[in-house]
Amino acid sequence: MFRFSAIILLIVMQLPLFAGAIRQKQINRLKYSNLYDLMTGNNFRVTLQPGAMTAVGRGYTCVFNRNARRMSCNGIRVELLNSMSFEGNLPWISTLDWFKTLRPLLYPGTVPKHHVRRIMIDMGHGGNDSGARGAISQEKAITLKTGQQVARILRARGYQVDMTRTSDIQIPLDRIGPMQQRTNGDLFVSIHVNSAADKKVTGIETYCLTPAGAASSNGGKISQTIHDGNRNDPANFLLAWHIQNALLRRTGAIDRGIKRARFAVLKNIHAPGVLVEIGFISNQAEERKLNDPEYINKIALGIVEGIDSFARTTGVRR
Ligand SMILES: [Zn+2]
Repeated sequence: MFRFSAIILLIVMQLPLFAGAIRQKQINRLKYSNLYDLMTGNNFRVTLQPGAMTAVGRGYTCVFNRNARRMSCNGIRVELLNSMSFEGNLPWISTLDWFKTLRPLLYPGTVPKHHVRRIMIDMGHGGNDSGARGAISQEKAITLKTGQQVARILRARGYQVDMTRTSDIQIPLDRIGPMQQRTNGDLFVSIHVNSAADKKVTGIETYCLTPAGAASSNGGKISQTIHDGNRNDPANFLLAWHIQNALLRRTGAIDRGIKRARFAVLKNIHAPGVLVEIGFISNQAEERKLNDPEYINKIALGIVEGIDSFARTTGVRR
């Protein structure tokens, strides 16, 4: 009886996700769907303003902007795969963004269930590769300390942890994917530190692998290549969302958004994965924080809480 009604409920919940009269069209040779139809069809309260659309429902407030890739959800910045397109006040979103960005976030039930027991932590750089350099420190040392702290907290919470390195050695980037595949782990998190020519820039950004058919957030061309890591596109985005949220809550850092890139370490993993840029070594104040064990503990807690929250949402923990 329970199973029967659960199935009915599932069908009822699934139907409005993409059925019905959703207007579709091609813009710049890409498939677009009418966002007003999608959101009102899913019972979101929609407000249209000149140049923006706000949709409220399911605990989310999403703001979409005219001709922009940048949107926000509950105040968190998200970079869409393709720019929004407005016709008068009527907004169109790329169909790829509906399936790879919005739907995983607003309907996590559509993301395949993931066991979350064994997690690989990758500490960026090491050995001869120092990564970004600041005035008083190097990226490779900060990523190692942060990763070790993440591993300690994860183990205390009952997760099994693999680390790509535990000392100052360099792991070639093309070895990391195969390492993850051998462990057959459930999630992957790569930790890096940012650097910018503009020394005023600070904040945290979380990346997941760019889906096929889109260009990365920081530019580049549209690529149709499907990497192994793209098998988990919806879960990759959802994991990035939970980690970015938890990191900002813990640290109060500037939100630089959830972005996509074709980073080597994300291409060949066989589990949902993200790459987190935990702060800017090129900014004096942020570099000081990144060398403060108390701040690193906040970063580590943020990453772990993001993983916990992803596991509660879509995972089957232990
Ligand atoms: Zn790096």
